[in-house]
Amino acid sequence: MKKNLKNKTLRTLDALTHQGLIKENDLPQLEKVVETFSLAITPTMQALINKNNPHDPLAKQFIPDVRELTHTAEELSDPIGDDVHQKVKGIIHRYPDRCLFLPVSVCPIYCRFCFRREKIGGVDGALSPQELDVAFEYIESHSEIWEVIITGGDPFILKPKSLQKIIDRLNQITHIAVIRIHTRVPVVDPLRINLDMIHALRSEKAVYVLLHANHVQEFTAEAIHACAQLINAGIPMLGHTTLLKGVNDSVEVLTELMRFLVKNRIKPYYLHHADLAKGTKHFRTTLAESQALMKQLRGRLSGLCQPTLILDIPGGYGKVPVGHQYVHWDGDQYKIEDYQGEFHTYLC
Ligand code: SF4
Repeated sequence: MKKNLKNKTLRTLDALTHQGLIKENDLPQLEKVVETFSLAITPTMQALINKNNPHDPLAKQFIPDVRELTHTAEELSDPIGDDVHQKVKGIIHRYPDRCLFLPVSVCPIYCRFCFRREKIGGVDGALSPQELDVAFEYIESHSEIWEVIITGGDPFILKPKSLQKIIDRLNQITHIAVIRIHTRVPVVDPLRINLDMIHALRSEKAVYVLLHANHVQEFTAEAIHACAQLINAGIPMLGHTTLLKGVNDSVEVLTELMRFLVKNRIKPYYLHHADLAKGTKHFRTTLAESQALMKQLRGRLSGLCQPTLILDIPGGYGKVPVGHQYVHWDGDQYKIEDYQGEFHTYLC
């Protein structure tokens, strides 16, 4: 009997096979993939995947691939060095004025290129009340922390009441000015953004939502509505895009995405050069390819649509911009490159 999996998050290879999303021949190898890296595909993304297109940008992001079993020498279990800066469970304090706060380590969907793919997943994944207390005490006792970035996992997988308790507690910490939430939920599971969730985000602090979106095809009408609800409630949104080979590594796809974000009042913030997560080589562009794409976006796209190309230095050394360099010094004077590749002398 055919299982009715409509409107259910797909969490097993069996379910994916029933939906015709994977080939039975690949099952033995894919079993090994999902033993190591979590699997979930929300109904919203499932409905958008075009099974008949081998280059479908959503299938590539969410359907397990046998290439994930290939682990190269440069790949790391902790590609951006979170462990080096973990102070207490759920707190990563890498830069002086801000810290990451990870109240939950699960997501409604699992991206096949995730940089925390070896740390997320499982059944519950939320900090216990005691662990939350210890995390808050760390933030309270470090007056240099100006901004708290709530991430995970995906914070919007929490029930609105749980998220509200976190925001309320942060509201009481006088040295915190900004609360930033990193999420993929408004796109991959947009109905979670309801009035209760909006209410949970009410704060005297500045609250920003950073949306992870990689392709314009991810956006349903519900996703656009979810983002509009957040923005209309006074919450500015920023865009985070991971540059992924075969998904969005073309000027046309990036142009369309960045314009779409800005048109929907989401300011592109990061274009992230893919991290050295295990089993993700097939997603990675070279730095030269990433820089060449950024160079082509300059001049072609409004300044509002320009993200910053970012690399998270392996080992925990933090993020740095790695875009094309327009300023050159010839030993005597500056030569400034314009967006068309012409050089101009600049005397200062
Ligand atoms: S939503 Fe974010 S944390 Fe979750 S799997 Fe995707 S990239 Fe990783």
